[in-house]
Amino acid sequence: MNLSAIDRLRMENALRQALEFGELSLHYQPQVELATTRLLGVEALLRWNNPVLGNVSPARFIPVAEESGLIVPIGEWVLGEACAQARRWRDEGIDTLTVAVNISALQFRRTDIVGKVRAALDRHAIPPGMLELELTESLLMHNAEDVLRTMNDLKALGVKLSIDDFGTGYSSLSYLKRFPVDRLKIDRSFVHDVADDPDDAAIVRAIVQLGRSLKLDVIAEGVETQSQLDFLRTEGCHSAQGFYFARPMSVTEISTLLQAGIVAGGTQHAA
Ligand code: C2E
Ligand code: MG
Ligand code: MG
Repeated sequence: MNLSAIDRLRMENALRQALEFGELSLHYQPQVELATTRLLGVEALLRWNNPVLGNVSPARFIPVAEESGLIVPIGEWVLGEACAQARRWRDEGIDTLTVAVNISALQFRRTDIVGKVRAALDRHAIPPGMLELELTESLLMHNAEDVLRTMNDLKALGVKLSIDDFGTGYSSLSYLKRFPVDRLKIDRSFVHDVADDPDDAAIVRAIVQLGRSLKLDVIAEGVETQSQLDFLRTEGCHSAQGFYFARPMSVTEISTLLQAGIVAGGTQHAA
């Protein structure tokens, strides 16, 4: 991110008021089971629309939110909003869906994340298994004992845990055995060239096999093409998420898909 100090400050000030002024919203991107093209879940992705800055991409504002600590109140809002939406979907009879929420390292380490998650589940009366928390690999690398304790407490609540952007951190694989993780999300940088680059193909294959050996679900991120999908299917990857199936969508846009339970792109192109 190449923001000048001024731009950064301007963004931080605007972000400070974003919650209060109702400028934040969540979009949801479908996650699809490859064997059936059934819609398994959605990932909640933060969107920020500011009257002056316009639509700011998370890649630009999440780092600012993290460095300024604003990610703490924002992350709490995301958690509450995603749980409220999960409740609304349940009320509409959609009850097999998992809603995944990204949790930043700061939010995980500096706040009572277990208490916050418990409170959000209680407030919206959603079954804990409907909520998945996406943690990054780098988070697991430091203070492993504290992180392990928190993860165990979160698991005890009944929520699912996944490792986002898997393969991009430089961590020891031994934590995978120890940490109560349910699934790995293969980083989209590996998926991008999987059909053409033998090294990326080897990495993706290895992650799928690792997941199988450790009995973890594996989901591929950033699937955009039929050839990427074909590769993932052949390797037995469990599920996928990406523009090939659907972009992140507003609640209104995604509701038709959710009612149908099947992602059209996947059915159409199913092998
Ligand atoms: P992420 O959690 O790895 O989310 C996946 C990103 O990949 C999303 O970008 C999504 O729009 C994008 N994506 C999905 N399918 C495709 C595809 O087929 N091709 C390509 N090129 N991209 C695809 P987005 O929404 O811009 O979010 C970027 C990152 O910002 C997220 O990466 C996550 O790390 C962070 N983020 C987003 N929302 C939140 C949030 O509520 N809390 C926190 N802490 N971080 C968030
Ligand atoms: Mg994510
Ligand atoms: Mg990711």
